[in-house]
Amino acid sequence: MKGRLTTRLPRAGETILGHKFFIGFGGKGANQCVQSARLGAKTSLICKVGKDSFGNDYVENLKKNGISTGQTTDAATGTASIIVNSEGQNVIVIVPGANLLLNCEDLKRASDVICKAKVLVCQLEITPAVSLEALKMARASGVKTLFNPAPALADLDPQFYTYSDIFCCNETEAEILTGIPVGNLDDAEKVGRMLLERGCKLVIVTLGAEGCMMISVEEPIPKHVPAGKVRAVDTTGAGDSFVGALAFYLAYYPKLSMEEMIRKSNCIASVSVQASGTQSSYPYRKDLPQDLF
Ligand code: ADP
Repeated sequence: MKGRLTTRLPRAGETILGHKFFIGFGGKGANQCVQSARLGAKTSLICKVGKDSFGNDYVENLKKNGISTGQTTDAATGTASIIVNSEGQNVIVIVPGANLLLNCEDLKRASDVICKAKVLVCQLEITPAVSLEALKMARASGVKTLFNPAPALADLDPQFYTYSDIFCCNETEAEILTGIPVGNLDDAEKVGRMLLERGCKLVIVTLGAEGCMMISVEEPIPKHVPAGKVRAVDTTGAGDSFVGALAFYLAYYPKLSMEEMIRKSNCIASVSVQASGTQSSYPYRKDLPQDLF
């Protein structure tokens, strides 16, 4: 991820001066792994990066966070170039590059990692069919599946609903998937019910400062799990912090109720919004209240 800060966004053909440039690490899967690992989980990221400096730094960053990973390919590492103006508006160009080269053969090579895991988390920043295949492999081995349909696809393959033990989306993704704009808790309940009808076993809709709405086949009355009141300075990547934390609880505290796992994951994600940046804002276990563990 490359970020440039400018007072205004440039017009076509224009060159302007910016006042800050930085490179940060991102990608939903990597962010989620980083949050899980910082809570103490043993994590692996199945991904592809290029043999370029971004790819080297990317793998180095994952290793630094204790995450095992990666294959390289001749394609360029996936990047997102982001220009942000002083009002916080941005323009973004994503070049998926190597991300889209991850294929089902790669999954077969990683089958030990997938099939021996406690939890598999998938998103849609790789080819959707590859994510779906990974969910199927996990299901066949009795591995719990947590699916985060991000970035959302209006024409998501319906098999994703049935192969996800937990289907976790935010308000925007919920609207793209169901056509229901989520402006309040009632809307989130409607979305939850609709996704349950499509075959999900358990749906979580994250609602920013409002926390989450959960609904499941076992508990078909939707339940609102509020987040604590905090002073948010940067909510970028909060959803990934939440998903990473939830994966950690599913894997290491499987006896907790789902409501309790969500409550704890809300706490962790709400810590992340109190600092700026994405991975840089994700808390470590040692800095969190010990009653979260
Ligand atoms: P995304 O980052 O995908 O848009 P959300 O904005 O729904 O996801 O946030 C995910 C989770 O992060 C929420 O469910 C909540 O736990 C936490 N969170 C986000 N924004 C806030 C906030 N302003 N105050 C407290 N917690 C927050």
